[in-house]
Amino acid sequence: MTKRIFLRLSVAVLLAMGMISCAEKSEKSGGEEAGKEKSSAKIKVLIIDGQNNHNWVATTPLMKDYLEKSGRFEVQVSTSPRPDADEAAWMAWRPAFAKYDVLLNNFNNEKGSQWPDEVKRSFEKAIEGGVGLVNVHAANNGHKGWGEFEKMTGLLWRSKEEGKRYVLDADGKDEFVPVGEGPDAGHGPQHEFEVVTRDQGHPITKGMPKEWRHSLDELYHGQRGPAENMTILATAYSAPEQKGTGANEPMLWWIPYGKGRVVTCLLGHVGRDDTEQMLGIKCVGTMNIIERSCEWAATGEVTLPVAKDFPTKDEIRLLK
Ligand code: ZN
Repeated sequence: MTKRIFLRLSVAVLLAMGMISCAEKSEKSGGEEAGKEKSSAKIKVLIIDGQNNHNWVATTPLMKDYLEKSGRFEVQVSTSPRPDADEAAWMAWRPAFAKYDVLLNNFNNEKGSQWPDEVKRSFEKAIEGGVGLVNVHAANNGHKGWGEFEKMTGLLWRSKEEGKRYVLDADGKDEFVPVGEGPDAGHGPQHEFEVVTRDQGHPITKGMPKEWRHSLDELYHGQRGPAENMTILATAYSAPEQKGTGANEPMLWWIPYGKGRVVTCLLGHVGRDDTEQMLGIKCVGTMNIIERSCEWAATGEVTLPVAKDFPTKDEIRLLK
């Protein structure tokens, strides 16, 4: 073999290798910039529902469709037994939490029912082992008295006797209110309000407007809990004229739990039945936050873009 032929062959082999490797990358990541192995496979999401004082029958498919349309997720649903279900139904409900990359929590216990201890332990173990968790709206109302869930969620719908409160003052500084002081968890009448992005460097909120207009929703205030290791990503001002607290109430935050990342988004109210228009969750801002939170909780990075029709400072944007 002459030197020249050898050189040509080497170049051909290198080119072929390069082409193969490019083809693999573009097939896996849909032509986007090739990322780490974890960012190229579809993220496995499990939506948990079955009980909620909000219309979970309508919101689960809405979130499932939105996530799947992004092309980034593969979504399964686990529907718990109803609160009055018999022992056999509860014994049969054993979701394989650890098999997923992220759990999307659309569950709020009804009539004081509790998950079986075995299910609680497997949930805790999964998050601790690195499965992500995203709580939406009333999901933070649930599981009263389940200490580990309360720890990973940070702030919950509880009375002032059941935990401290964490808000931001007028200057955006942390303000902790002790147990027993200040308001209980609550909300005023539903209204449109401004959401303020407090951490524009975080992957979930990066690129979102500093202030944006949210559609008709409940503005939760006075949320209570352990509030440890919380990073607040967005707040909303709870106006006294809307029977609010006059504080900047957390709307979106995250907490590490073992190797897992837990994101809680309080936006996303809908009524109990389908007579309401579900404007809280049909806001493009809410849905974009949910999908980006799912991606980040699962992988630690966000490749999904900020929605092109994301709400602006003055304009509400609803899903079409
Ligand atoms: Zn609600």
